[in-house]
Amino acid sequence: MRFSQSFWFAVILLVSVVGCSSNNIKPVLPPENAAQEFNVDTERSLESYSSPASSYWSDIIQFEGEYWLAHKNENGTIHKAFGKGVNLNDSPEKIIDTHADIFKIPSSSLKKVEEYTHDGIHYLFFRQVINGIEVKDSRVELRWGRGGKMVLLGADVFPQLNIDANPVISNAEALERAEYDAGTKPLSSELVIEEHNGSFYLDWWVNTEKWKYHIDAKTGSILERESNVLDSHEWTTDVTVYPLSPFDVPIVEPFLFNRNLVDLPEGGQVEVLADRYGYARIDSEEETLNIVSFLDNPFVDSIPCGEYGEGMIDRWSVNNQPETLLFNDDNSHMGQRMVGYYCALGHDYIKGIDPTYAGMDFPLSAYADCCCTCNAFAYIEPPYKIEMYSASGDCVATSEVADVIVHEYGHIYVAVQYTLGVPSYSIHEAFADVLANAVTQQPEIGKDITGPGTNFRSSVNSVLYDNNQCYGESHCEGNILAGALWEIRGILGNQYTDYVWHQARFGQSYDFAGFVVDFYMVDDNDDNILNGTPNCDVFKQCYWDNHHIPIPETPDIPTDGIVVDIVPTGFPLEMDRTKSNNNLMYHINIKNLNDEPTTFEAWAMVETPWQQKYGPMLPPAARLHAPLILTLQPDQEISLDLRHAIPGMLPVGTYRYHVRVGDFVDNVNDILLDDDWIDFIMY
Ligand SMILES: [Zn+2]
Repeated sequence: MRFSQSFWFAVILLVSVVGCSSNNIKPVLPPENAAQEFNVDTERSLESYSSPASSYWSDIIQFEGEYWLAHKNENGTIHKAFGKGVNLNDSPEKIIDTHADIFKIPSSSLKKVEEYTHDGIHYLFFRQVINGIEVKDSRVELRWGRGGKMVLLGADVFPQLNIDANPVISNAEALERAEYDAGTKPLSSELVIEEHNGSFYLDWWVNTEKWKYHIDAKTGSILERESNVLDSHEWTTDVTVYPLSPFDVPIVEPFLFNRNLVDLPEGGQVEVLADRYGYARIDSEEETLNIVSFLDNPFVDSIPCGEYGEGMIDRWSVNNQPETLLFNDDNSHMGQRMVGYYCALGHDYIKGIDPTYAGMDFPLSAYADCCCTCNAFAYIEPPYKIEMYSASGDCVATSEVADVIVHEYGHIYVAVQYTLGVPSYSIHEAFADVLANAVTQQPEIGKDITGPGTNFRSSVNSVLYDNNQCYGESHCEGNILAGALWEIRGILGNQYTDYVWHQARFGQSYDFAGFVVDFYMVDDNDDNILNGTPNCDVFKQCYWDNHHIPIPETPDIPTDGIVVDIVPTGFPLEMDRTKSNNNLMYHINIKNLNDEPTTFEAWAMVETPWQQKYGPMLPPAARLHAPLILTLQPDQEISLDLRHAIPGMLPVGTYRYHVRVGDFVDNVNDILLDDDWIDFIMY
């Protein structure tokens, strides 16, 4: 975005209003609009010049012939001075050395520590050094305004400072001392000169994660231990879950992005979220804080609806005493923990594939053990929600089967990514299975659902898409595509396969064949999937060879000869045999790919449902004898839109209408340069 000059002018004026108001005793009425604001500013500027209220900027120095306003610090050096900008062509060091009366220190005793330009203003900072060691309490600054004139200077220095800058305590000894005290490895160290209670010391600054040590470099004593961490309450939340199904031994895992409500005595209740490792912290000096941790996070609103209440841990946290909370059977129900945890894991997995994807960044309502048995549901229209059922009879609770939870979460992932509308349910089920397989790192869906070793289905399968006995059932069909993707993951690795899978879904194809094209497109590297893609051999093996899912294959493109193509242009291609005015409308294209002029015959031929061949023929309206003799120059092509009137009372069935180029013989032994056809139906 670019702002106009008047915009910046207004900004500068606004800044000057703010800048002036702190020195003005009289309150300024707020302007009613921007235009008035400028007027007020002008008036007020005049006022403040006439009565300099504060005594802070009470010193006046002369700098390059201009009177600058200044403030001197306790030892008589200039803290800051500023005034009308002056043009100086000298180097900063020369400016300092030729104004010894102002800076009171030679540039040879300074070290440049920072220099930058922001919004046209150039800043330069030095520190006083002794034997190259920085005096941390010192600061010399020079500043240039947007017009290139020097507008500010400062010289907080200690001209009389005299200190032996040779340490007695070595760096290694200082590190050792800090490590002993902190109990953790030091992260950095620096030898400095600084003031403590009015005296200067040569110190080692040693940083550990929590503390910054100031260690006297002469005696080794710790002069000061500064906290690197503000007073804080911190905790980590873990959750007890089954790794896959209730037939596993429960494990303890960090609860990702766990939501907590903290009661602050001042400021009321605030929400604190853990990181992906379950670690949460709130900086507060309160000795104790009431904190309630829930089995939710910003992406899963985990709602129990059986007899048990919502899992939570309500406690008092003590300042600077980190603790680990554990959600287990004492405070929550396994189903709710599993649903909360595995949905969060699903969310994290998707973010891992595509950190920029925000489609699942909302609190999905997830119900555990509401009712019913042996199933689970995803509501794929807003408001989205998922439901896991309780245990009964042979079936374990689906709320306790990791892959079923992630499968339902996967349906919502499809629902939000397919913004154009719901794809085929087979795509929906396939992708829900793929996410479940990916997150749980195993191929089964409904693992151990009615006992160890049982499942609903597995992505390790060799079902063929064109011979599947699914009868269109979506879980059954989805299993085929999930199978192909499981195999691709096995060959190309999870990371790349899942990436391509996620990206290809932005093609929003509603069917398998379309999705596979989208998949090739993501893998492609030259804007042409028909000349292959880097991994097309693997895709062919997994999609086509193993599962007969159509793939975009390189067509056999002829480079010579005569080629003919026919495409229908009038629909439908179904005709009522009792009508006498049926027409087959089509477009043909004939092209000569040879390097020389070529003469050949062209004609149409019809194959009947009873396998008879009628030809040669041409559309009757053409009033030409078939076959037609044509001569085409190199690269010459002819395109025609044609209508072939179809006689009435033809027998019911499918007729194949050919266009052929070559040498007609008898419809059986024709010498064909090319042949293309379309089918039409008589009913
Ligand atoms: Zn499903």
